[in-house]
Amino acid sequence: MTYSDGPRPQRQMFDVSALGLTCSECGTAINELPFQPTKREDGTYGNLYCYDCNKKRMRDRGPRRDFGGGRGRY
Ligand SMILES: [Zn+2]
Repeated sequence: MTYSDGPRPQRQMFDVSALGLTCSECGTAINELPFQPTKREDGTYGNLYCYDCNKKRMRDRGPRRDFGGGRGRY
């Protein structure tokens, strides 16, 4: 299998719909993740986020960090 000239380079997504995961932020069902989630010792997958919230979080975590506070909600 070769990647010749796909329309756009897309990261591989893992189908996690069978795991019944939901976004820790908005509660949306997560069907795909850019990585394979691994179960932790406590039997959960930790905090996982849907595509939108992930994008939002990436942006919020950008280079600028001059809006302190608002953290600690886990
Ligand atoms: Zn979400």
